[in-house]
Amino acid sequence: MHFVVCIKQVPDSAQIRVHPVTNTIMRQGVPTIINPYDLFSLEEALRLRDKVGGEVTILTMGPPMASDSLRKALTIGADRAVLLTDRFFAGSDTLATSYALAQALRKIGETFGPVDIVFAGKQTIDGDTAQVGPGVAKRLDLLQLTYVSAIVELDGESRSIKLERRSEGGVQVLQSKLPCMITMLEGSNVVRRGRIDDALRAARAEIVTWSAKDAGIEDLALCGLRGSPTVVKRVFAPAARAEKAAQVEIAPTQAETAETLIAAIFAKAPAIESDLTKLAAGF
Ligand code: FAD
Repeated sequence: MHFVVCIKQVPDSAQIRVHPVTNTIMRQGVPTIINPYDLFSLEEALRLRDKVGGEVTILTMGPPMASDSLRKALTIGADRAVLLTDRFFAGSDTLATSYALAQALRKIGETFGPVDIVFAGKQTIDGDTAQVGPGVAKRLDLLQLTYVSAIVELDGESRSIKLERRSEGGVQVLQSKLPCMITMLEGSNVVRRGRIDDALRAARAEIVTWSAKDAGIEDLALCGLRGSPTVVKRVFAPAARAEKAAQVEIAPTQAETAETLIAAIFAKAPAIESDLTKLAAGF
């Protein structure tokens, strides 16, 4: 069987520091990790492979440095890693991310064999939307099995899977046909550490690296910022100013230039002048 696990490289939120002066989040130099929720899906895929045989392929879309997370996943025991990386993917929202991943999954199926189960994390710790897994499933017409707490049985002959899913007020026991998409709940298993031979293999492994074109993506308008309606709509674009900006002549001294500027500001906004006058008068 062929299991594919989608993982995302995210900043390690435990290492994020707040700037002592500006009180803003300092993102630079923050180490990256595999999104913790994805590790539960990776572990479950490895368990199934160990039980019924087959291969586990890891897929990520991200910058070239996301290969670090892929190599880590190989160290834990995955068989193959695919990095989808291209400048056309920059600025992707969940719609564009799920499109690119779905196309790559199609290509993985064509290249390395049909995919039986696609795993994703429940959500990420940076974007946090929990939309990508279901988005990929919809695009590939896969049955969606989300919030899975345990896989009870995988039957290769009848190509069916039985599992437990957490729902409001209880646990659902579901049976589904393959192929399907599964998102595992956190704590549903204990993630293995990986063996020495996996670590050695991972160190030498070649990471399959695909551009948008390599993954068979023809419509680049559906990728990255162009294919991301939520991001594009959020961008704050100030309306063009009706009047032209006035120029202030540079005076012989800085003080005179400052006086000219202040006079121009007060002429434009008399309220500022009256507030400042009151302040200066001790109000
Ligand atoms: P989720 O849907 O939470 O991820 C679920 C699972 O999908 C993951 O566990 C993983 O298995 C898989 N997955 C997710 N991303 C990848 C990947 N790149 N490669 C492989 N597998 C993956 N998105 C919007 O749609 N609109 C916004 O306005 C928006 N604003 C954002 C603002 C900030 C500051 C940040 C950090 C993110 C924002 N995002 C937004 C999300 C962003 O675009 C995401 O990085 C991307 O779309 C994935 O969404 P997510 O992280 O919420 O994934």
